[in-house]
Amino acid sequence: MRRVTIFGSTGSIGESTVDLVSRAGDVQVVALTGGRNVTRLAEQARALNAELAVTAHDDCYDALKSALAGSGIGVAAGPHALAEAAVRPADWVMSAIVGAAGLVPGFRALEQGATLALANKESLVTAGPLLLAEAKRHGATILPVDSEHSAVFQALAGENIDTVERVIITASGGPFRSWDAEKLKHATPAQAVAHPNWDMGQRISIDSASLFNKALELIETREFFGIEPERIEVLVHPQSIVHALVGFIDGGILAHIGPADMRHAIGYALNWPERRALPVERLDLAKIATLEFQAPDDRRFPALRLAREVMAIGGLAGAAFNAAKEVALDAFIAHALSFPAMAEVVEETLARLSRDRGLTLAPDSLVNVLEMDHLARRRAEEVIRERQ
Ligand code: NDP
Repeated sequence: MRRVTIFGSTGSIGESTVDLVSRAGDVQVVALTGGRNVTRLAEQARALNAELAVTAHDDCYDALKSALAGSGIGVAAGPHALAEAAVRPADWVMSAIVGAAGLVPGFRALEQGATLALANKESLVTAGPLLLAEAKRHGATILPVDSEHSAVFQALAGENIDTVERVIITASGGPFRSWDAEKLKHATPAQAVAHPNWDMGQRISIDSASLFNKALELIETREFFGIEPERIEVLVHPQSIVHALVGFIDGGILAHIGPADMRHAIGYALNWPERRALPVERLDLAKIATLEFQAPDDRRFPALRLAREVMAIGGLAGAAFNAAKEVALDAFIAHALSFPAMAEVVEETLARLSRDRGLTLAPDSLVNVLEMDHLARRRAEEVIRERQ
């Protein structure tokens, strides 16, 4: 029996993971964690007969406790409880909390040498070198769950990384791919969330529309595979069928093709190093017929340019970038910032931080990362206040 824990089980990735885990016969669920959706968390915990259910919020404890009354399932709440759940012995841990909040639980899970299936890209963006070093120290394995990174990982199986010339990750271009700059000024959160191909959580859907999601993924590719930024390309591919391509020194390119269903990448990580049958659509390429590719437009969508600047700075710039992006995203969702202003706020925050504190500092520990996260949030809030 494999012992499995799912962080963020009530979210989009979490639900897909719960679906696959409930179909697997050989799994014992150790812990499930969620945020405010305690009703769903309790349903999942009962259905999977989990040992423990944890909500991230102390004020949700009573609701979760009563929803699980009589079940014998343990109940806990708060960030400390999340970190404690991470060190409960498990063989496989899904990291699918959204945002920088996913960083500490993922880190703690590595301490017990578990295989960490990493959907939470923010962990690599904010603390990539620390996370990889922690995995190495404890003999733990990190597997990518982002569809592009899973695709690269699969294309690299059996290959020598030194023969890789370039890595291309694709972006659907989101719902605003063909919108002009003027129209983008009036884009609403509801419009931004309506992703054409993927059914994802609210925050990543909006990040996809602004290409901030792809910006995070650029940094994630650099951190996870150790490939220089100049050799990582982004290609807009509206059909979202080709998830990534790896070009080798002999001119050959391996492309990973699959349906827009995260259960493929999650299932690959769950079954790795084996492949097992998964309940995803089988593509009919004749029916799809056309695959399009375009260069991204950095002028309308500056997030990719900013990510390249962040990679050039190094150190704590990734943590600052992500934190500023999260604050700007919250403000956009609250209708306090226009869609294009999100990138302006992130750029201005990075500029201020580089003036009053060295972003280039290589973090010694998570404490440095969390301090920069905190500082960047305050600066971004300041920038937003000044614009109002
Ligand atoms: P969702 O918003 O759908 O779900 C987020 C999960 O995290 C929920 O379980 C939520 O709980 C929980 N949560 C929210 N805030 C906190 C917090 N402060 N502390 C602890 N738990 C919290 O996100 P997604 O599933 O879309 O994304 C999860 C991660 O996976 C992100 O990092 C995203 O970038 C990445 N990813 C997602 C993909 C997708 O297709 N969705 C694809 C590739 C990567 P509750 O809902 O109960 O409040």
